[in-house]
Amino acid sequence: MDANKKWLSIPKEIRNEITKNVFCGRCKDAVTIDSYTIEEDKFGIVLKGKCHKCGKEVARVVES
Ligand SMILES: [Zn+2]
Repeated sequence: MDANKKWLSIPKEIRNEITKNVFCGRCKDAVTIDSYTIEEDKFGIVLKGKCHKCGKEVARVVES
């Protein structure tokens, strides 16, 4: 199963919670991740995108 399918297999409500709760090192807060991509990670999958507030690159691992 590829990373994108793994992501889509997670219930939509949980995916929404995850994308709204990504830590940004610049904002020092949980932010919404924008224009993210899904990639394989050794622990599951990882979302890579940009902070909605400041535009800094942020990532969030989703353990499978
Ligand atoms: Zn930020």
